[in-house]
Amino acid sequence: MTSTHDGLLTVNLQAAGDNFLALERRLRPGSRCGAVVKADAYGLGVNELAPAFYRRGCRDFFVATLDEGLELRDILDEDARVFVLTGVRPGRELECIRAGLIPNLFTLQQVRAWRNAREAAGSPAPCALKIDSGMTRLGMTEEEFGELLRDPGLLQDADIRVLMSHLACAEDPGHPHNRRQLEAFGRAGARLRERLPEVQLSLANSSGIHLDEAYHFDIARPGSALYGVNPQPAGENPMRAVVTLSLPVVQQRHVAQDSWVGYGATQRAPAGSWLAVARGGYADGIIRAQGGRGCGWAFGRRLPMIGRVSMDSTVFDISALAPAERSGLGHIEVLNEVVTVDEVAEYAGTIGYEILTSLGHRYTRRYTGS
Ligand SMILES: *Cc1c(COP(=O)(O)O)cnc(C)c1O
Repeated sequence: MTSTHDGLLTVNLQAAGDNFLALERRLRPGSRCGAVVKADAYGLGVNELAPAFYRRGCRDFFVATLDEGLELRDILDEDARVFVLTGVRPGRELECIRAGLIPNLFTLQQVRAWRNAREAAGSPAPCALKIDSGMTRLGMTEEEFGELLRDPGLLQDADIRVLMSHLACAEDPGHPHNRRQLEAFGRAGARLRERLPEVQLSLANSSGIHLDEAYHFDIARPGSALYGVNPQPAGENPMRAVVTLSLPVVQQRHVAQDSWVGYGATQRAPAGSWLAVARGGYADGIIRAQGGRGCGWAFGRRLPMIGRVSMDSTVFDISALAPAERSGLGHIEVLNEVVTVDEVAEYAGTIGYEILTSLGHRYTRRYTGS
């Protein structure tokens, strides 16, 4: 293994692929599993992860932006569909059509612009429709959707293939909002299918797959669970860990007398402790809010962070290690199968998604298990 001064981020493609297959197995018969690979596959590398899912049979991919879609189209074969979740900005419709990308449209105006662009292009141009079923984020309102249904010509000419909506509370299976959204989406889907019998329905994200089968519909759109985040935080994580993050130790110190550690002098290392300074800080996605609470991992032990996380470095209390272990301590892992993305998120007061997408650009990245 190459030694690196800036930390090593290892992404296990086998584990990610296994997660894809495990999610697919959970789906009701007839429901297809897609893969959300927006934001560079949640920060882990779309160039490597998208093909890993493709090789396991995935054919429906979801990105956030047109530019992400253009990049992904170059990676995947033509039989893969690429959906652009935040749609297409006015004026870029033709570019989208020529690239073979499928935008989510969420206003009537967008649907009309798409129809016009499609006629101008004179080529097939499938799109998806996104409705708001109760999250009040992106999505057509009920009024606009009703208006669209009353315009059968527009419905036909816009070439709508998929109807989508997004769940707000799926990680909490007991939340009453799940049912409300399910019913609203089911009603909208049934109405659209009266006009367009072939249209596919898609509602579930990672957590939605772990609600009951009623949420699965035709296409599921998991993201976070593919990358190891627990889709149902109240229970044991059924997903495999995908990421290992290992920071090099750049200085060790023995504390001769009680000493304050780090910015703000917020925490004191007692006399006699051993500390390790690791290269990796909040500019590398070691979220500052976990300072004094988070931990690293070496020689099968959790090692507490001490003091605030700095921009480029983090201090760990390694007093628990035996002298021989201390002298062999080259790296401290801050994410692995034990110190999980979800555990770190808990220390940092955030969610696993943000831990993954915050991982910085200064790591050497290694992909295993392709
Ligand atoms: C990000 C996203 C997903 C994936 O959600 P996860 O919770 O990561 O599984 C699915 N659908 C939409 C519309 C999204 O924006």
